[in-house]
Amino acid sequence: MIDSHIHADSRSSEDFEKMFVGGIDTAISCCYYPYKISSESVLVNHMLRILNFETKRCKSYGIDLKVALGIHPTNSLKSNNEIFKLLQQLIDGKKIVAIGEIGLEELTNDEIINFKNQLELADETKTKVIIHTPRKNKLKVLKEIKSIVLESIDPKLVIIDHINQEVIGEVIDEKFMIGLTVQPQKMDVEEAISILTKYGFDDFLLNSDISTKPSDPLSVPKTIRTMEKMGLSEKNITKVAFANAKKYFKI
Ligand SMILES: [Zn+2]
Repeated sequence: MIDSHIHADSRSSEDFEKMFVGGIDTAISCCYYPYKISSESVLVNHMLRILNFETKRCKSYGIDLKVALGIHPTNSLKSNNEIFKLLQQLIDGKKIVAIGEIGLEELTNDEIINFKNQLELADETKTKVIIHTPRKNKLKVLKEIKSIVLESIDPKLVIIDHINQEVIGEVIDEKFMIGLTVQPQKMDVEEAISILTKYGFDDFLLNSDISTKPSDPLSVPKTIRTMEKMGLSEKNITKVAFANAKKYFKI
């Protein structure tokens, strides 16, 4: 299985052990620094830690960790030249599978500028982007995200993540990939399965988003196993277990 969105840097090695035994072979770690950022160098260090250290730590527990890096909306600073330079280098060197997670949270000016600049970089370099949608004011912020995305980037490069039952109508008819995050306080296994059985399995990726917030490192295997117990078709289960993510990120 592939868990398409985690935060390896904020989790224990015991989690990785559990995930591997639970059937996770590959995970994508996204960039988000959970504390206050005082300067660009803090975020650069955070990015290099994920890239150079967390990948090795996961590997020692059997998990192939792929990396997505970018400026999370809550990590937005006024000046980001150093980070953009690093992102460009990492994209050129094929060191990251996506720019992410990026997006909007409070709709501040800095957030919007950073978001647009990262979408433009992704579009120019044909890089995938993982876009976060917030817990608060999800629909309002999602509408803003959608309008900026549609004017900035090829929608086929875009994953809109943390989509739930209430807001799915806003994205289902677009060419985006849709991320379903099964996490305590966000969405349970049943809601994820009801979305998949209603809208089909082709355009969805599953993830746990394990982070500093309440999380379940086994939420992807639990969702997959529940679908198996329910007797859903193996072909469909395979798509969200790993095949969609493998094909989309070319991993
Ligand atoms: Zn996340």
